[in-house]
Amino acid sequence: MWTAVDIPSFRKQRASLKGSVALVPTMGALHRGHLSLLALAKANYDHVIVSIFVNPTQFAPHEDFDKYPRPIERDLALCQEAGVAGVFNPAVEVMYPQGLVACEMAVPVIAKELEGESRPNHFAGVCRVVTKLFNIIEPDAAVFGQKDLQQLLILSAMVADLNFPIEMIAGPTLREADGLAMSSRNVYLSDDGRRHALGLAKALAEARVMVRDQGESDPAAVEAAMARTITAHHMEVDYAVVRHARTLAKVECVDPDAGDGVAAILAARIDGVRLIDNAIL
Ligand code: AMP
Repeated sequence: MWTAVDIPSFRKQRASLKGSVALVPTMGALHRGHLSLLALAKANYDHVIVSIFVNPTQFAPHEDFDKYPRPIERDLALCQEAGVAGVFNPAVEVMYPQGLVACEMAVPVIAKELEGESRPNHFAGVCRVVTKLFNIIEPDAAVFGQKDLQQLLILSAMVADLNFPIEMIAGPTLREADGLAMSSRNVYLSDDGRRHALGLAKALAEARVMVRDQGESDPAAVEAAMARTITAHHMEVDYAVVRHARTLAKVECVDPDAGDGVAAILAARIDGVRLIDNAIL
């Protein structure tokens, strides 16, 4: 496995790869969720490239860019074990030689809501860095997690609209044994916080029971129940909503079997840590 930290040496290594290439973009601090995306990529493409880059343009000034975990040696060992062909691990100056504001991107309307409301420039930063990675890495496919459902949908819309010749592949959310969605940010949690964070998975399970088993069709009732469960776990709700699973549009009636289905989407804070989760109902 090779590692490149600058663009010319990445391109040289990339040119030596014959066959199809799948990219798995990450911010590092790899966990089993990331590894499941690597396995998905490896099963379907000849070579897997992983990018590890904590992207400053998707963080707001008050967010955790500086303290975000960066265990690079461990990450590289995990990539090697997973059979990754190459890792692109650039410094901020390599990705943004003209500074962070050189070329901003406009994003579709769904980027303004949910995560976009709490983190106003987040998706513009995500779209920009992923565009840059696509142009540098030139993958045939890119794998993203459903854990970040809104990100997946926005990037898929971007790839379609801007005609990137890249197949978008979605990987399911990997969870701890008790249901907590794996996240690089889980390491920030105290023991109590870790227990309380289960409120998210419980709220999603409850939403599924209400909709699937009890036939609840009123989105407000499902949203209220999810918010109650999260609050009962001492978490502060940022949003707890039921939306169309592909467009993220509001739904008047929850029908899990209609069209693309509906998704329950959550964000909440515990211990000052902001966690997100979702489930297709
Ligand atoms: P991140 O390093 O957090 O930017 O995530 C990199 C990729 O891993 C994104 O496509 C995420 O959606 C995905 N991902 C994060 N957590 C999980 C998880 N628990 N299961 C599956 N994929 C995940």
